[in-house]
This record gives sequence, C-alpha cells and structure tokens, in this order.
Amino acid sequence: MITVLHLASGNAHKLAEFRALASAGESGDQRMTIVRAKEMPPVEEDTGTFAGNARKKALALQTMLGPEAWVLADDSGLLVDALKGGPGVESAYFAGPQGDPAANLRKLHDVMRGVPEANRGARFYCLLLLRGPGGREEIFEGECAGRLASAPAGGGGFGYDPMFIPEGFSCTYAELGEAEKNRLSHRARAWQKLDRWNRTAESV
Ligand code: IMP
Repeated sequence: MITVLHLASGNAHKLAEFRALASAGESGDQRMTIVRAKEMPPVEEDTGTFAGNARKKALALQTMLGPEAWVLADDSGLLVDALKGGPGVESAYFAGPQGDPAANLRKLHDVMRGVPEANRGARFYCLLLLRGPGGREEIFEGECAGRLASAPAGGGGFGYDPMFIPEGFSCTYAELGEAEKNRLSHRARAWQKLDRWNRTAESV
C-alpha cells in the first residue's frame, strides 16, 4: 500500500483538496500522506491530452525525487457542451498562455453570455496519474456533470468553481463549501478509485 504520495503540482487548492480527500479515505491506519513538491519543475502542458500532460508532470517530479518515489499528477479541466467540449485540456490557458484563473473565469462568463439554460451543460473531468518505482503507472478518472451559472457566484474553491453548478444542486462549486465539493467533485471521484485501488493492489 502506498502511504506517501508526492503531488506534482504547485496548485495550493489542489493540494488542499487532496489532503482533505486523503484524510477522509477508508485506508484504515495507513492513510496516505500527500507531500507538496518543494519545487515543482516547470512543465509545458503541450501534449493535447490530459494523460499526456499528467505524465509529463509526474515524470518531471519523479526525475527530481528519484525512481523510488510515488508521484501523483492531476490534469483536469472543464468541458462545456456549447464550446464543443472546450476549453477542456486547455482549461488552464483559456484566456491566454499566462494561465490567469481570473481571466479564464471572465472569459467563460463572457462567451456564455446569453446562451440559454438548455445549452449550458458542462462537466468537469479529472485524470489522476500515479507514477512509481520501475516506471509503474496507474490512471484513474473522475467526472462531475452539471451546468454553467448565468454569472459567477461564491467565494470558495478555485478556477471555474464560481461558474459550475453540479447536477442536482442549485448552487455553484464555489458556494458548496469544501466538504460538499470533496464529496462529489470530479477530483473526489477519481481519488475514490485511486484509494480503492491502493487498498487492494497486491504488488505495491
Ligand atoms: P491543470 O492544472 O492543467 O490540470 O489545469 C486545470 C484547469 O482546469 C485549472 O486551471 C482550472 O482552471 C480548471 N479546473 C480543474 N479542476 C478544477 C476545479 O476543481 N475547480 C475549478 N477549476 C478547475
């Protein structure tokens, strides 16, 4: 069972979500510790796929830490029906290469202005890639379906959270609160698969 995972991300929000997910897991006494990368090597997310980008991030950190380390990379994004699945794998750079989350959110609000309720469907997607000794790799995916709000609402979370209303709710991810988001989010769903795998994997 893996007990220590190094997170290949400089995103403090993702780190907080993973730590909350790990401590809420069912791994008994041996819950996983999520370690923040002291220094995350710069990685160009240019492969055009979630798995390719996650692999680049995981490899970059494992190269720095050594081949025995277990590394976790997350590549995620928002897929909007009215944008034919965009911004998707380009979610972090929707408003430009500087990767400004506030500008991305503004752009999403702008491009969706006037789009009727029936066409505001969207889903969040998360791909988690684990890389371990011997180049072993495991992939877990999670999705959360929903729709886009008419305007950003809520102060919690990060990124596109203020625009995303998960199915079955009338408030955004950013209004839900951390605990509720961590129960149903795309990241939580991918994490649950990883956690289940970790509790059953015999060869680790
Ligand atoms: P990544 O860091 O390359 O995976 O980029 C993911 C991008 O998708 C982030 O910059 C966010 O804009 C967006 N994103 C992914 N997960 C979430 C989430 O849980 N809430 C809000 N935005 C998210």
